[in-house]
Amino acid sequence: IEQTAYQNDKLAMLGKISAAIAHEIRNPLTAIRGFIQLLRPHLIQLGKDEYARIILMEIDRANDIIHEFLNSSKPTAPQKTIVSVSSLLKDAMLLTESEALMIGCEMRLHQQTEDLYVSIDVKQIKQVILNIIKNAMDAIHEVSVIHYAGMIELGIKQEGDRVNISIQDNGNGMDKTLLGKLFDPFFTTKEQGTGLGLSVSYRIIRNHGGTISVDSMKGEGTVFVVSLPLTRQA
Ligand code: ADP
Repeated sequence: IEQTAYQNDKLAMLGKISAAIAHEIRNPLTAIRGFIQLLRPHLIQLGKDEYARIILMEIDRANDIIHEFLNSSKPTAPQKTIVSVSSLLKDAMLLTESEALMIGCEMRLHQQTEDLYVSIDVKQIKQVILNIIKNAMDAIHEVSVIHYAGMIELGIKQEGDRVNISIQDNGNGMDKTLLGKLFDPFFTTKEQGTGLGLSVSYRIIRNHGGTISVDSMKGEGTVFVVSLPLTRQA
C-alpha cells in the first residue's frame, strides 16, 4: 500500500492546523489550570473538591489531545537505539494489559528461541505497536457473540535480514472497501476515532525503512504485519 501525495498533504495540513491550535488553546488552558489550582483550597472548604478534580482532569485531557495531534502530524527524525523485538512487544503488552483485561481479551506472544534486534526510535515504534493493539482491542470489543473469547496474538519471525512482527486479532474484521481506506488520514469508523493512528504508523514505519501490511476478513479477524530491518546486538 502506497501512501499517496494526497495523503501526505493531508498530514502536512494537519501539522499546520495543530500547531496553530496548540498555540492558541494551550495558553488559555494553562491559565485556567493555574487559577483552578489557586481556587482549590476554597473549593475544598465548600466541600466541592470534586469539581476542581474534574476541571483539572478535563483540562489535562484537552491538553493530551492537542499533544497527540501535534505529535502525530510532525514527522520527527527517528532517534535510534538498538533493542530486542521481544522486549519491545512485552513492554507494549504490559501497557495494554489492563485494558485487555477489562474487555476480557487474552494476549499471547509467540517468539523464536533466538532474540532479534532492531535499530529503532523506541518511542515511535512503540506508538505504532500500541496503535495496532488498541485497534485490535476495539475490533474485539465490537463483536457481540455469546461465548466469544477475544484473542490477540503477537508473533516475531525472522525473514532473511528482516523481522516480521505480526499482530493478529479475532475481532470484527474488515471488508475490501474498508481495507482500501484504513491508511487514509482521518479515515475512521469509530465515534471517538481520529483516523490518524494508522496513517501516522505508516509514516513512522516507512521512515524506519520498514513496511506495514494488513490482511483481514469481515467477521473473522485481522492481521497486521510490521516488517523492520534487523540489526546485530550492540
Ligand atoms: P482510529 O482508530 O482513530 O479509527 P486508525 O487509523 O487507527 O484510526 O484506524 C482506522 C480504521 O481502520 C478504524 O476506524 C477501523 O475501522 C479500521 N481498523 C483498524 N484496525 C482494525 C482491526 N484490527 N480490526 C478491524 N478494523 C480495524
